[in-house]
Amino acid sequence: MSKLTAEQRHNERMKRTKAIVDKRIAEAQQQQGVFILLTGNGKGKSSSAFGMVARSLGHGQKIGVVQFIKGRMETGEQNFFEQQPQVDFHVMGDGFTWETQDYKKDKASAQVAWMVAKKMLQDESYDLIIMDEMTYMFKYDYLDLDEIIETIKERPKMQNIIITGRGAKKQLKQAADTVSVIMDEKHAFKAGIKAQKGIEW
Ligand code: ATP
Ligand code: MG
Repeated sequence: MSKLTAEQRHNERMKRTKAIVDKRIAEAQQQQGVFILLTGNGKGKSSSAFGMVARSLGHGQKIGVVQFIKGRMETGEQNFFEQQPQVDFHVMGDGFTWETQDYKKDKASAQVAWMVAKKMLQDESYDLIIMDEMTYMFKYDYLDLDEIIETIKERPKMQNIIITGRGAKKQLKQAADTVSVIMDEKHAFKAGIKAQKGIEW
């Protein structure tokens, strides 16, 4: 038998890969929305979530965004997505930044933001809901994790949701359908390079 050329071997391998992928696609038949959790210390959690907002918008879907940290400066994502009629964008009012040290006030702000998110989670007109930086709300006990997981489980069946933030608790990971832990291998900031407009915010 003649030896296969590199090209033939490649084609054979691709054929086997295609068979495996086709089988997996055929097997995934459940029609339901997903709960995605983007956590870890590496860069790319919020920007990935907003990438999916753009993707969803491209299909004419309706999106809700609730940011659980109010930064000091306006962000590109807020400036842009707030202008889209299909996006409801909420930033947590005068609340939690690394600079506030007022537990009661921060907790109250977190509760208000959660009420906004909860309303979306009970409204099937929203196709996608982003709860950006929500993991910190559990770390500092501003919000009750059990209540949030319960509400997520009871949301409209086709609704997709994304939670971002470092240090996600085990219980949240267990509740999610997709969990990506973004690793920090290297970050420009640590080499002393200033945060960049359009990249960091
Ligand atoms: P991004 O919004 O860029 O996707 P992120 O959501 O993954 O980042 P956060 O933990 O929310 O990251 O951090 C917010 C800010 O800190 C962003 O400006 C981000 O670029 C920056 N940042 C993220 N990861 C690191 C890191 N490992 N070291 C230093 N700064 C970081
Ligand atoms: Mg983030």
